This record gives sequence, C-alpha cells and structure tokens, in this order.
Amino acid sequence: MRIEEWPVPALEADLPSLECPPHVHKWIDNLPREVLEIVSTVAQNGGGIWVVGGAVRDVCLGLDVHDIDFAVSLEPEQMMKLFPNAIPTGIDYGTVSLRGKQALYEVTTLRVESHYSDGRRPEQVKWGTSLSKDLERRDFTINAMAIDVARKVMHDPHFGMQDMERGLIRAVGQAYGRLSEDALRILRAYRFLDRGKAGIWEFDFELGEALRQNAHKLKVVTNERIWMEWHKILSGKNVGKVVEKMAHDGVLDTFLPGNWASQHVLLSALQHPYVHDFDGLTRFALLLCETFSIEVDEVLSQLKLSKKERRYILELHQKFGQLPKPSLPNLRVFRAVLEDKAELHLQLEIVTRSHNLSPSMGGSDEEVDEVYSLLESLEKLPPLKSGHSSLVDGHWIMQRTGLRKGRALGKLKGWLHRLQIERDLASSDEVEEVLCSLHWSEENYLDWPVLQFPE
Ligand code: ATP
Ligand code: MG
Repeated sequence: MRIEEWPVPALEADLPSLECPPHVHKWIDNLPREVLEIVSTVAQNGGGIWVVGGAVRDVCLGLDVHDIDFAVSLEPEQMMKLFPNAIPTGIDYGTVSLRGKQALYEVTTLRVESHYSDGRRPEQVKWGTSLSKDLERRDFTINAMAIDVARKVMHDPHFGMQDMERGLIRAVGQAYGRLSEDALRILRAYRFLDRGKAGIWEFDFELGEALRQNAHKLKVVTNERIWMEWHKILSGKNVGKVVEKMAHDGVLDTFLPGNWASQHVLLSALQHPYVHDFDGLTRFALLLCETFSIEVDEVLSQLKLSKKERRYILELHQKFGQLPKPSLPNLRVFRAVLEDKAELHLQLEIVTRSHNLSPSMGGSDEEVDEVYSLLESLEKLPPLKSGHSSLVDGHWIMQRTGLRKGRALGKLKGWLHRLQIERDLASSDEVEEVLCSLHWSEENYLDWPVLQFPE
C-alpha cells in the first residue's frame, strides 16, 4: 500500500495523552516507512495501534531501540487478514509478527486482566479494546507506557517518565500481588536495575520489600523462563552490583545451589575489571567456580541451557585452577588446546586468584603476578609456523612405522602432534626427523604424551 502522507489517526486510547519530549518526537519523525504502513493499515480499518513495552522505555531513555512491539485493538484473526504475510508467532496470546525490510514487528492484541492461578502464565486471555487495561497488566511503570505514532503523543498512566527521572523501578499496581501472579517479574525487576552506562537504578520501597518477600516464589517459574532472564542479567554492564543485590535479597538461592548471601568474595570477583569484557556465560562459569562440577552440570541442565551453552561453561569450569608452565613449548600447547579461550582462561585465573577463590577442581597455587606474566608471554607468543593442525596423518605414520590402525597409532599421532606444536615444527620433514629420534617402539603407548591441557 502507498502512504501519501502521515498516517490518519487511529482509534483513540481510553487514556489521557501527553506531549512527547523532543527526542521522542524526533524518533517518531524518523520511523521507517514500513512502521507507518502498519499504523496506517490498522487505522484505516478502524483499529487503534500503539508502540508499547521496551521500545517506548528505551526511546525515552535515549537508548537505541532494537525491537518495536505494538499493541492493537484489532483481534488476531483480523490482523492475519489485513496482513497476509503475518506470522502467527503466538496467536493464542494474541501475537502476530510482521516481517518488514528493517525488522520483525510483534503486534499483540490488547488484552484485559487475566487470572494467574499458578504464578506462571495467565489461565485465559481475553481480547479487549482498552489500552489502559493493557498497560495495567504490564510489569513495571517504565514498561507500561505507549506511543501513539499517528498523533505523536504518549500515554503514561503509571508515571513511568517520572520514575525514569528518579532512576526507580516501580511495579504497576501493588508490588506484592504483581510479583505473586507472575514470579518471573522478580528476575525482570533485577534486570531492569542495570541501566548500562548510566549505572544502577533502585527499587521503590514497596517493590524492594515485595521482592524479598516473594523471592521463594521463583521456584514455580519454569526453568526456561528463568534462564532467559538470568542470562540477560548476567550479560548486563553492571552485573556485579545487580547479582550482589540478588544474593543479598535471597533471590539467587532459589535457582542456584549454595547460600549466596554469604558469598561476598565470589560476588566481589564479579566486579573485577576483566569481568566487564566477559560474556554472560563466562560470568556464570566464574560464579560457579567453587561449585563441584557435578552440581554445575546439574544446575545447567535444570535451567535448560542449550548443549552448546552447557559445554562452554563446563569446559571453562573444568580448567579452573590450572596453569601452563611458563616455558615456550608449554605455552604453545596451552594456546593450541584452548585456542581463542587461552587468554580468557588466564584472565579468569587472575580474577579468581586475586580474590583467593579456590576452584572446586583444585589446581596450582601460583600467585597472581605469575599469571599476569603468563598472560604477557601469551600475548607475545608468535603464531606457529604451520598453524595448529597436524602436519602428518595416520597413513603417513603407518608408512614410516609399520604400525597398524589402532590405539597405538592414534597415540603416536597425538604425541607427534604435541611435539610439532611444542617445537613449532614447520614441515613433515621436520616431523620425520623427530619421529626418528623417538623410542616409540620400546615404550608403552599408554604413557605417550598427547596434545592436551591440563596435562
Ligand atoms: P527487552 O528490551 O529486553 O526486550 P522488554 O521490556 O521489551 O525488554 P520483553 O520481555 O520483550 O521485555 O517484554 C515486552 C513488554 O511486555 C515489557 O516491556 C512489558 O511491558 C511486558 N512484559 C513482558 N514480560 C512481562 C511479565 N512477565 N509481566 C508483565 N509484563 C510483561
Ligand atoms: Mg522486547
């Protein structure tokens, strides 16, 4: 469809409106054409449509907006008819997704208050036409604002803008009840504390109290939902402060093993400067460094992390406390085994050692200074002449040794690979020279070293 001018105003909200601050006005003026087309289509069909949720919050805060979500007064079936390419992503909950050139837009039909019987999901969803009711069911005041694009006005019935100015997270309505009906909001509250470069916000008094009183209710929330929010919390810029507060308020204990209120050292490790550049998974591994592997594996499975995420954390966890010897050959092996995680591993060792943390796996007790010098040597270590892959294969070894396929051949291949890395060999001729010097036929192959870290 073509839009010759600004969209005609859609159905009006059942709420007073506010002038938008100038930067929000500017954002509306610069919205992509496809957004205006969505607004126009709904408006021309007698519906109301508003930008809601995180986009409104982020644009008001002057942050980049990554997803635009809409609330509409038209029912999902009608939306599917009006937008033939709409994807019914969550149609039972009223959500369809519209694929634009710039982004995917989630459009959700207005709902009325629903009943929660189990602190997880609403029992039933009823469509409504009231924006006011829709905003009432949202979690926090800063997430309960709306923008009417066509009219270029805002709706802020719960005074989210005021809370933003004061740096406050406040529940919409009564905090205690709102957290009881969906306990995931407990985690969401901590997530929104972290305002990135702007630092940390605070909870308003009522919400702060309700969080501590309701923390235990997180136990009824499904693990997938917990992991989604916990992963975002772990990835936040101010993770140290947020997680410390969660520990203090008794929230961490509800889904992680241990008694977190007393874990001051572990929690302060999260504030180490290196941690700024770690991703959420690495930070999770760090938090679990004193937990036994078996328990780590259990909690990761319980929280339903993907296989890849689990493997990443477990691999870091298994290596905690281990350091390569400072010689060049050892450093080369260390780098070849850990690849892009070699530097990260040493940084983690610096963080844990400078806080006197004792990894559950045991390990060496070198001082932090020694780890810093390892890190420096690693940075200076030139790339290997022939890269990390093995210069020779099984056939090559069989031809020269007469060995047949089997364990001994595999072990000899591993040994040669290790020597190639340790000595930075450049060609198969050099490997052959080394092979000639090995007394491989006289030794028990089970004792042959292989390319691994820790030894
Ligand atoms: P992000 O920028 O991280 O996506 P968001 O605020 O958009 O943050 P979403 O999880 O995408 O968060 O949710 C979109 C909106 O839906 C929220 O802003 C909030 O208004 C509402 N919402 C989401 N989850 C809940 C919940 N558990 N209870 C009440 N309202 C919720
Ligand atoms: Mg969102």
